[in-house]
Amino acid sequence: MTEQIYDCIIIGAGPGGLQAAIYLGRYNRNVLLIDRGGGRTQHAKHIENFLTQKAISGKEIIETGIEQAKSFNVKIEHGLVTKVLKSEFFEVYVGDKQYLSKFVIVSSGVYDNLPPIERLHKFLGTGFFTCIDCDGYRTTNKKLVIIGNSIKTVHLAIAMKEMFTKDITIILYADKVPDEYKEELKEESIPLIIGRPVKITGEEKMEAVELKGEQRIECEVIMSHFGYKLNDGFLSELNIKRDSNGFKFIVNHNYESSLSGLYIVGPLNQGNDQAVIAAGEGAVAAIDIKKRLLER
Ligand SMILES: Cc1cc2nc3c(=O)[nH]c(=O)nc-3n(C[C@H](O)[C@H](O)[C@H](O)COP(=O)(O)OP(=O)(O)OC[C@H]3O[C@@H](n4cnc5c(N)ncnc54)[C@H](O)[C@@H]3O)c2cc1C
Repeated sequence: MTEQIYDCIIIGAGPGGLQAAIYLGRYNRNVLLIDRGGGRTQHAKHIENFLTQKAISGKEIIETGIEQAKSFNVKIEHGLVTKVLKSEFFEVYVGDKQYLSKFVIVSSGVYDNLPPIERLHKFLGTGFFTCIDCDGYRTTNKKLVIIGNSIKTVHLAIAMKEMFTKDITIILYADKVPDEYKEELKEESIPLIIGRPVKITGEEKMEAVELKGEQRIECEVIMSHFGYKLNDGFLSELNIKRDSNGFKFIVNHNYESSLSGLYIVGPLNQGNDQAVIAAGEGAVAAIDIKKRLLER
């Protein structure tokens, strides 16, 4: 029995991976999509910046996308990819199970660094947000607390004030804040607290955030700013170029990485982290793979 060699294996069923799967499926290519479930888009409860969708949950985008991909004969397997190697073909491992493929699209996304605050997950995606592009608008004219641990959090607070709400308190984990930033926040009338939030209160709606030492700040929404990590552990045995910080992967205009045949779409590359952008990148990668398969 000859071992099956896929035209393309896609790792991750978020908007990036699913859009690529739909394109490649519609080229009648032999495609396997592997996903472990529970990605970042699943936490997006209220997406309202996706063309034609006035408001849709991330879960619905994924579920509909999976059905759509299946209808074009994309094979979908539930599993955690643990390793990718390259020899004559790409070898993609789910534990001991090996799959071979001519091309690979990595669309495994990122995960947020969330601070250890009690009852955070009750409000994640409804009142506790992590992304200005996704949910800044939903803080419009609301009582907002911004928490973070870097000077970038100060920049975020000033941007939020200009676009969304004047009622902002900033809580920084940092021990020291340079004087010029304190001055800037003072000029903007944004109160600064140095402290550790420990609990969010409220049932139907968020009421306040409690800090270590019993201080309590009333708020309706929270924007958290601690960055994110990449779901990229399975690429560790491949030599793929990253940016000067050794963080994000460098890709070309078709989203191909420095390793020929391996494409990286979504927030793992240097582009912006948005569902519609990940989907667009998935389409571009798939169209390029279509051409490369024809050349072969
Ligand atoms: C709370 C919240 C709100 C958001 N709101 C918006 C919004 O309003 N508008 C917007 O455009 N964007 C929004 N986003 C961002 C959007 O979800 C991301 O841009 C999008 O997730 C990127 O898509 P992706 O396909 O790259 O990755 P993801 O959606 O993260 O999907 C990656 C998939 O890969 C899987 N995976 C990871 N590692 C492995 C592995 N080793 N093996 C197998 N599978 C793996 C994951 O489980 C997941 O299913 C929001 C995000 C969050 C968290």
